[in-house]
This record gives sequence, C-alpha cells and structure tokens, in this order.
Amino acid sequence: MKTLGILGGMSWESTALLYQHLNREVAARLGGLSSADLLLRSVNFAEIEALQRAGDWAGAARQLGAAGAGLKAAGAQALLIATNTMHKVADEVEALSGLPLIHIVDVTAQALQAAGVQRVGLLATRYTMEEDFYAMRMRNRHGIETLTPAPAQRLEVHRIIFEELCRGQIRAESRAIYLQAVQDLAEAGAQAVILACTEIALLLAPETPAALPLFDSTRLHAQAAVAWMLGGTTTV
Ligand code: GLU
Repeated sequence: MKTLGILGGMSWESTALLYQHLNREVAARLGGLSSADLLLRSVNFAEIEALQRAGDWAGAARQLGAAGAGLKAAGAQALLIATNTMHKVADEVEALSGLPLIHIVDVTAQALQAAGVQRVGLLATRYTMEEDFYAMRMRNRHGIETLTPAPAQRLEVHRIIFEELCRGQIRAESRAIYLQAVQDLAEAGAQAVILACTEIALLLAPETPAALPLFDSTRLHAQAAVAWMLGGTTTV
C-alpha cells in the first residue's frame, strides 16, 4: 500500500469523517484488520480561517505548502488537502510540498461523469461557490457546469458551515435550509448537488431523501485516495 499524506484539521470535524472513510474503504477492499497507511498533519483551523477572511491566500498556501513538505519528508507519496476551499491554492501547495495532489474537483467530477451529470449545484463555503477556482476547473477540465444558490441562501449555507458544522453543531433547522437549497437548485436546472464542503455530510448524509442526488466530496475524496493507495485507477 502506498502512503498517503493528509493536510487536515480544516475542520477537524470533517477530517475525522475522512479518516473513518479511508480506513473503512481499505478494510472493505482488503478485509481482515487492514487499515489505511497514512500520515496526517492536522493544522490549527483558527489560523487558516483568519487567513481566508483576510484574503491572505498566499499566506495560507505557504503554511500548507510547508506542512505538505513535512509530510513528504516523513514518507508520504501523495497529498490530499482535506477541504474543498483550500483547493483555491492547490497548485501552490502541490508545488511547495513536492508531492502529487489528489485533487478534490477531479475526483468529484469523475463520479458526476459516471452518473451522466452535466449541470450540478454547489453547496459549499462562499469561497468555493463564488470564486473561480472550483467552477472553472469543473467546466474547463471536465465539461461540467456548476450552479450556486441565490446570494442570501449562499450566505446562510456559508454561515452554517463556520458557525455550526466546523464546531460539531448539527441542527434540524439548518438541515431544512440545506434541503430547501437543494430543491431550489433542482428548479434552477441542476441534475445533482455536490456537498462541496467536507463538513456538510455531517448535517446532510448523502443518502438523505432530497430533491436531487447528493454527491459527498469527503467520501469521494476518500474512495479516490484509497484507489490510488492500492494501485487502482486514480492517477495523481
Ligand atoms: N471544510 C470546508 C471545505 O471543504 C470548509 C473549511 C475551510 O474553509 O477550509 O471547504
């Protein structure tokens, strides 16, 4: 098995979920007591979130790049950034770490393509929903168009991520807000919705009956990483 390096802690609530998915996927494929061979560098999310809010993406990239280089020095053979939002600086982190990256947009796109989805709704932080890095890669590399909720709904989706989900708070009222957003995206023409923030599955499990099929970026990222670890099809 190849050794995976993870930049996690953004937030630790979702990294805990990812860690479970990785280990369960390895056990499902190899059986017995098999578990994932990995290195985890879990950062202080308060520092990263402050850099996001200040718009200091270069500073965040330097910090994550240095952490990634540490993972390489410790023996990691590929890198997984365990947050959609910080893929805004994926190229910089990949270059600074010296490790090939298992990119969350690419692995999510592969699952969408397999399901025949060409127009997809995004539920995510406002960085992921409103800035170019996510939608452009989906369109330019994979031919998939993204839709986002209306501005007021985007603010609410973003607020729930940082004020609730990243702090482990799961509220029925917030689940209802997300389900309404899925419904509205269906009416706007989306064929599916990506839970494009790694905490959302804590609130809205992908099996939840909803107006559209839900694609969980945390689970898809874990499955692709395990495929790579075990020498499967994921190329990095
Ligand atoms: N985990 C979230 C994501 O997937 C948000 C936390 C962050 O801002 O990194 O985008």
